[in-house]
Amino acid sequence: MTVKRRNHGKNRKGRGSVPFVRCTNCSRAVPKDKCVRRMLVRNMIESAGQRDIIEASVYDVFVIPKMYIKLTYCISCALHARVVRARPAKDRKNREPPRRPRRRRDDDNKKKPYGTQNNEAAESAIAAALAAKAAAATATEGAAEAVTETAAAEAPVEA
Ligand SMILES: [Zn+2]
Repeated sequence: MTVKRRNHGKNRKGRGSVPFVRCTNCSRAVPKDKCVRRMLVRNMIESAGQRDIIEASVYDVFVIPKMYIKLTYCISCALHARVVRARPAKDRKNREPPRRPRRRRDDDNKKKPYGTQNNEAAESAIAAALAAKAAAATATEGAAEAVTETAAAEAPVEA
């Protein structure tokens, strides 16, 4: 009988069976060694809202955490969502990870060791926000001092 894939689309590595996981999209039970896994790293707050949050925060330095989401797809959903695609017969045996044109910023982050990976845009936004905050603080202090001076100057007159 013809067999479409030598490994039947799975990667059991000598195990008889492998527990199933649920598809993120349709909840289908799909063997863990067969599912299409993708790691999704996303900022907890979208870039538009980051600035507002930083400005409203009482902490001077606070790095907004990221969400690390592991997505598991069944084959049907992976194909439907174009996570993976059918390839021409001659390319099917190619096991190299696909080379994707990625944005430069992402590439830069990849080169840095774990823990130092920070979004440059976010960093600059934070810096700008901090500068604005500091300026605002100075302005408020100046105003407060001015008020105190005025009060001091007025006080003797009243007395
Ligand atoms: Zn599915």
